[in-house]
Amino acid sequence: MLKLQALKNFRFPNVFILILIVFISCALLICINIFTIKILSANRAYVNGESHYSKGQKDASRHLITYLYTKDPQQWKLYLEEIKVPQGDGIARITLLKAGDNEVARQGFLIGRNHEEDLDDVIWLFDNFKNVSFLSKAIDEWGKGDKLIFRLFVIGQQVNAKIKHNILTPADRQKFLHEISTISDSLTINERNFSNMLGEGTRKIKDLLILTNVFFVLIIICSVCLYYSIMVKRLLVSKKETEVKNENLIIVNRELDRFVYSASHDLRSPITSLKGLIEITALEDDLSQIRNYLQMMNYSLTRQDQFISDIIDYSKNKRKEVVMEPVSLKELFNEAILQLMHIENANRIKITQELLVDQIESDGLRLKIIINNLLSNAIKYADCSKQEMFISIKTYSCDGLNKIEVSDNGIGIRDEFKDSIFDMYFGTNKNKGSGLGLYIVKEAIENIKGEIAVFSESNIGSKFIVTIPQSHGI
Ligand code: ADP
Repeated sequence: MLKLQALKNFRFPNVFILILIVFISCALLICINIFTIKILSANRAYVNGESHYSKGQKDASRHLITYLYTKDPQQWKLYLEEIKVPQGDGIARITLLKAGDNEVARQGFLIGRNHEEDLDDVIWLFDNFKNVSFLSKAIDEWGKGDKLIFRLFVIGQQVNAKIKHNILTPADRQKFLHEISTISDSLTINERNFSNMLGEGTRKIKDLLILTNVFFVLIIICSVCLYYSIMVKRLLVSKKETEVKNENLIIVNRELDRFVYSASHDLRSPITSLKGLIEITALEDDLSQIRNYLQMMNYSLTRQDQFISDIIDYSKNKRKEVVMEPVSLKELFNEAILQLMHIENANRIKITQELLVDQIESDGLRLKIIINNLLSNAIKYADCSKQEMFISIKTYSCDGLNKIEVSDNGIGIRDEFKDSIFDMYFGTNKNKGSGLGLYIVKEAIENIKGEIAVFSESNIGSKFIVTIPQSHGI
């Protein structure tokens, strides 16, 4: 029973919090992964764009040099075609830096031979990450490259003008060739730096992604394990509860069977004897004999009454909730003594009271049942052969607990009965009681979490000590 209480008192952490943690972690994990994939895809598109930029610039340089030497207009046309590629990217860069029209930027990127489907990611990355270290450095390199492309374009215009006006000298050609090569070399460095910056960013993002994935996966695993262990513990607890309840039910059922059997028997026997007594009284003419029969009838009815009152106590004790309230022990004892005075020989017994504790906080109904039964037993089992019969009642406090002591110099309890006196229907004298009294007392004491001890010696007397805990803890 105590075990069950301890289990009931154990508070489990709220599993909904764990489910929420798993849910949020999964959602974050999905968002982070989608976000990262978008960044990495945009990065890839930039690297791809850079290769078109680089190729365009190199082809443009090549066609310009060929044009410089062959004066072939076809080469000039091809040069113009190719230089448009880095120039388009340059327009997109400037537009995005100035937070201008995205459509212009898109057109720029398309001229730069970027794939149409990559453009959303490319523009999104630029807009949102242009100030993040790796992209800002890459954009810087890109800007430097664009300046060189502009110079290449200006050189192209100069070359074309000179060829058209037929004033290109070998010295000019040498100078232009030198300038184009220098621009090409510088651009190669810019382009490499641009790719390196993006590569560095991609690696950092990848590391971060691995870390966040590991972190969230660990959170999810821990939460799921905790959830699982809590659910298993809950299942075990409810299994234990069911087992304890089943055990209790089996005990209660067994008690109920015994109770019903004995109650029907004990309720019927006084009625049967009453019917018999009535029948023989009807045939009797002798008045003294009739009085004798009437006394026997009265005795039968008293037994019946006692038995019914025991059953009522039993039922009240089973049914009613424990209610803590101020109780006066003195009042309970006085009421009980008054009620029990009708018992045979009760007026011959000297009852002494030493009540050091009177007002306590406890369950009034249970205390009444306990006190009534202990006192009635002390009276019922008084030893009439003794010259002086007494009952001593004491109440006192010891170690923070309230104690009630009822002792008598009655017939006492024989050693072989001491272990059975609290059992249901155990009685050494069926004429004196139903055998329910001490069983109900024991149950009532259990209900208020108290204890009872018996000290008794045959022919000397008995002492019952009831320990009642303080109100808290019940
Ligand atoms: P009953 O209704 O038979 O009195 P109880 O459960 O009250 O049943 O008591 C069980 C048995 O314990 C009694 O039959 C009696 O033998 C013994 N007993 C209880 N109280 C006393 C006492 N104060 N003195 C001697 N015997 C007692």
